[in-house]
Amino acid sequence: MSSRKGNPPNTGKTPFYEGLNKKKKNRGPSADTFESDYYEDDFQDAYEGKSTSKKPVEARKAYQGKGKPASSTVKTENKPSHTVRGKKVVERSGGFERMDQKPRYDRSLDAYRSEPKCGVFGACGGCQLQHLTYEGQLKYKQKKIEQLMGAFGKVSPIIGMENPEHYRNKVHATFSYDKRGKIVAGIYEEDSHRVIPITNCLIQDKRANGIIQTILGLMPSFKMTPYDEDYDTGFLRHVLIRTGHVTGEVMVVIVGGNPIMPSKNNFVKALVKAHPEISTVVFNVNNRRTSMVLGAYEKVLYGKGYIEDVLCGTTFRISPKSFYQINSVQTEKLYDKAMEYAALTGTENVLDAYCGIGTIGLIASKKAGEVIGVELNKDAVKDAVANAKLNSIANTQFYQGDAGDFMLEMAAENETLDVVFMDPPRSGSDDNFLSALVKLGPKRVVYVSCGPETLARDVRYLTLNGYSVKAIQPYDMFPWTEHVEAIILMTRSGSGEKK
Ligand code: SAH
Repeated sequence: MSSRKGNPPNTGKTPFYEGLNKKKKNRGPSADTFESDYYEDDFQDAYEGKSTSKKPVEARKAYQGKGKPASSTVKTENKPSHTVRGKKVVERSGGFERMDQKPRYDRSLDAYRSEPKCGVFGACGGCQLQHLTYEGQLKYKQKKIEQLMGAFGKVSPIIGMENPEHYRNKVHATFSYDKRGKIVAGIYEEDSHRVIPITNCLIQDKRANGIIQTILGLMPSFKMTPYDEDYDTGFLRHVLIRTGHVTGEVMVVIVGGNPIMPSKNNFVKALVKAHPEISTVVFNVNNRRTSMVLGAYEKVLYGKGYIEDVLCGTTFRISPKSFYQINSVQTEKLYDKAMEYAALTGTENVLDAYCGIGTIGLIASKKAGEVIGVELNKDAVKDAVANAKLNSIANTQFYQGDAGDFMLEMAAENETLDVVFMDPPRSGSDDNFLSALVKLGPKRVVYVSCGPETLARDVRYLTLNGYSVKAIQPYDMFPWTEHVEAIILMTRSGSGEKK
């Protein structure tokens, strides 16, 4: 494989994946499956487990309820309700125990109980740990990873944030009417289609919070009404905003329930006038009964249709539908650790599996022989290819397809891999991928995970099949929420690899 450079290859036998992107029927999913995968993996994380549908999300099912509301706000522990700032809040799974199940309180966190900072905590469901101080949240997450991963090795202390607020670079708001007929923007109440108005979210980028409020203010004068999914009436369904941490570029995606956007040009003009920081505006149409945010149709109304941002000295273009880590400050730390674990010397054949827009692979390419990236989302693959060009990187190739299928074929072709980065969605990897990984036997596997339960499952498989865990480092990518990220270094036993 090392004889191949760039795309197409210059010498050697043609590997199966050359031309993969050109195949008419590639391994990618149909538009339908793609969209639902995309939503699960990407937009569901808009609120880290908060779904835009009535359905409860998997993340919640997996959660057994280890937190407890601030003791000052609990009326009685066994009643299915309590109050936050005098308002009755229904207990739910997540940061609160489900009161219809046997409560399992974690008394060791009692010292960290605190009054939630947000007025809609509990009703919104976006954050689950606001009843704990930030220190308490880190303790909770450390414990969670230790419980799941401790059997594989020592878990290093979690790396938290210095300023754990307003870190989300991707923000999503849904538009609707309240009971009095006033237009509101916010997120769906858990398990319902009632929009909880949110004006100043604690975790969202402040610029995005401001833009959403401006859009709310502009709507009446442009006769723009919220979309009603039940009656298929009105227009504005969602607004998605992405902000570049280093570049300051801002992308606004206006999602309409129908393709007729009222006074399109004047609306965009007024929006950009109020927020000159906006660098691009994209119109997306989603008229299906679906829990996904974005539909298939997209039209650029202003600017380039994507934003750029910089991570670890590499510039990345990010399109509306591509995955991009939502916490840029922590992502840089995480990727630095990934590079440390990979211990590249300049000659290695590297795979970046579940590569998104190519972030990890492109950063690694500077110290590797050759990097191959594989990713399901076709927009993300386009971005990855553009990102290689943007950074004048010539030793990477990106392919669209299912990572498991891709690995199976690599194994069938007896390819050589020295280091594999894998960063699957919350659902983890699959049998195809893991069995092929074992067959290919790279010396180092760097597993980045936002789903500790599936991480433990996949790592168990790999440790039973010749790999040993050398390091486990949790990161807090999602302060105030229950979600926790971890990065694991595994080496192939007998490969002579030390940490
Ligand atoms: N490594 C990237 C993206 C990680 S998120 C980053 O750090 O930015 C997980 C990615 O896996 C998403 O881009 C998602 O589209 C992709 N994905 C989900 N299922 C996949 C599959 N079966 N095969 C390949 N990629 C998949």
